[in-house]
Amino acid sequence: PTQLVWLRNDLRLDDNPAISQAQQQGDLHLVFIATPKQWQQHDESAAKQGLKAASIEDINQQLAKLGVPFTILETDWFADIPKLLKTFCQQKNIRDIWFNQETPLDERRRDDAVIDVLEGFGVNCHALDADLIVTVPVLTQQNEPFKVFTPYYRRWLQILQETQKPPYPVPDKQGEAIAVDLLKPGWSDDYRDDLWPADEASVLKKLSQFCRNKVKAYPKYRDIPAESGTSTLSPYLSIGRIGPRRLLASIQYHCSEQGLHWQDNDWLRELAWRDFYRQLLLHFPRLSMEKPFKPETDNVVWRDDETGFHAWCEGKTGFPIVDAAMRQLQQTGWMHNRLRMITASFLTKLLLIDWRRGEQFFMQHLLDGEFAANNGGWQWSASTGVDAAPYFRVFNPTRQSERFDPDGEFIRRFVPELKKLSGKQIHNPSDQLRTETGYPMPIIDYKPARQTAIDAFADLKN
Ligand code: FAD
Repeated sequence: PTQLVWLRNDLRLDDNPAISQAQQQGDLHLVFIATPKQWQQHDESAAKQGLKAASIEDINQQLAKLGVPFTILETDWFADIPKLLKTFCQQKNIRDIWFNQETPLDERRRDDAVIDVLEGFGVNCHALDADLIVTVPVLTQQNEPFKVFTPYYRRWLQILQETQKPPYPVPDKQGEAIAVDLLKPGWSDDYRDDLWPADEASVLKKLSQFCRNKVKAYPKYRDIPAESGTSTLSPYLSIGRIGPRRLLASIQYHCSEQGLHWQDNDWLRELAWRDFYRQLLLHFPRLSMEKPFKPETDNVVWRDDETGFHAWCEGKTGFPIVDAAMRQLQQTGWMHNRLRMITASFLTKLLLIDWRRGEQFFMQHLLDGEFAANNGGWQWSASTGVDAAPYFRVFNPTRQSERFDPDGEFIRRFVPELKKLSGKQIHNPSDQLRTETGYPMPIIDYKPARQTAIDAFADLKN
């Protein structure tokens, strides 16, 4: 009997448990259901939709060579999917459907509705785990979810060592090659494919090259935006173009080649953050309802400042490192992690603008926008989320700039007005230099702005 595999946020053939396990039961038929209106409601960027379109095109071609039929359906909303899949199963006489589970709330509700309708109709639904590196629950000794990263990570690593398994193989050839129907997506297909090629072979090569050449120096360079010290794999990870077991296998192989312990690997620790934020969504539904993790911070009185918000969005705050970062986002669809922290702190603390506005703007522009990491990053920056820091953190953008872009190399790349300025001046140009170069004056005064933020949060306790 034909086994239907429903691809969603797992756009890959390699290390895909739904595909691999379904093929053991019979011939495969794959389906992808585009929901452009739903994606738009989730603020998914045009660039991310573009990367998805290109990835599906690649999957389409790979499957055709393997003789596996692939159908791409399109509808508006998640709510349309149960009926659509029921009709599809009816037409193709399908009795089994396979998919890999996701953590965000809307996606889980969608799946519950699908299971309800299909099982009622006699189709067996097989829901598998392929989203997290550690798929079993990571809980405290009291069976509670962890709210702080470091102890979560310790337990996570322990479980990982006990449960690790090799990646799932790509599916076998199933028959003669099929003629490829070229994809004509009814949604955006525009993104920087010069920076992020979409074919699976290039993606896996990028992973192994990073592990071979950069993983050792990651701790040294990961915080320097002018260096290519991080993997820039996030756009692929956000759509499931790489599987978690493949990630782990690559880290283990290349660490062992270089005489390093994979268990102590800093890059693996960063990937644990990804798992951490994702599993929080399972335990704390309020995170998916525009609510802060710390309920009391819902009473912060955020400032209404359209001018400030627009200056931030456009990279015209007059703080060179903030502006360079925001322009990197606009021009490439990606932003370095250190800069995400600096720009988010600037918006939520120094402008005292609601973190939800920044969260939404990031989602609308990031190629790697994903709800869990983005929400987690914004709430961490705004001090409304899970956060181990016992003090109130406000980044000083000029100090951050001097520390992480000491020669101004990154600023120069994205703020051409300041190209000719020397190292020191570039972090905070004089009024005269600003006038000469046409670069804006700072939109806030750091010290009083910082104090206003501290007072706004202190008021919550009184
Ligand atoms: P690497 O340093 O190579 O890390 C490897 C992978 O680990 C990343 O691709 C990512 O999947 C994961 N990872 C790394 N750091 C984090 C982290 N702090 N939290 C969760 N996962 C992490 N990441 C996203 O994938 N999507 C987002 O929408 C997103 N929004 C963010 C918003 C804010 C305000 C902040 C502070 C961080 C956000 N991050 C987000 C996390 C992080 O900035 C990016 O994952 C990272 O910059 C991606 O670059 P990379 O692939 O080179 O990372």
